[in-house]
Amino acid sequence: MEKTLILVKPDAVKRGLVGKILDRFEQSGLKIVAMKMIWVDKDMAGKHYTTNEEFLVGMGNKTLKTYAEYGKDPLEVMGTKDPLEIGKMVRQWNLEFLTSGPVVAVILEGIHAVTIVRKIVGATLPTFSEPGSIRGMYSIDSPVLANDRKRAVRNMIHASGTVEEAKLEIELWFHKREIYDYHRADEDVMF
Ligand code: ATP
Ligand code: MG
Repeated sequence: MEKTLILVKPDAVKRGLVGKILDRFEQSGLKIVAMKMIWVDKDMAGKHYTTNEEFLVGMGNKTLKTYAEYGKDPLEVMGTKDPLEIGKMVRQWNLEFLTSGPVVAVILEGIHAVTIVRKIVGATLPTFSEPGSIRGMYSIDSPVLANDRKRAVRNMIHASGTVEEAKLEIELWFHKREIYDYHRADEDVMF
């Protein structure tokens, strides 16, 4: 059994997709054990998108990889080829994006919840996310367009990437008393 955190980001909230998105998780058998709408400030967003160098370099390298795939010159678009510098820029855009409207924060619980949720959410970039995934179904945004416009990719959802990340993010977004333990009727049939 695992718990994982998802954030329905401001683009999805503003597009009226909260219900459709949560429906996907509920239908799969994942249980909502905590949920709230919250409009966070830069300070809180900054805690979510950490300044951890390893994480920033990872995000920078992912970005460089997509530039190579699309034949774009990172120097031209970002002004640098340094993964850490690019990671810092993407982080800044993420802070602006996450604070641009309310988000819906949800904790989902279930067997292998972290992996299952990432599968339902789909790959980070809508151009590569599978057609049946949430990002694949509801977005066609691209980092090439996003970076030209100096903004984050609008991919509707954040989902914890690992069990450790989930633990930290759950502690950041929720108090223990906001997380509930209850029995869902279909559990008897499904498990
Ligand atoms: P998330 O953490 O949001 O679930 P992820 O783990 O699939 O997504 P990360 O590498 O953690 O992806 O990136 C965090 C977020 O940063 C992405 O969801 C996306 O919105 C944004 N992002 C990542 N790379 C870029 C980029 N090159 N340009 C703009 N935004 C980006
Ligand atoms: Mg991530």
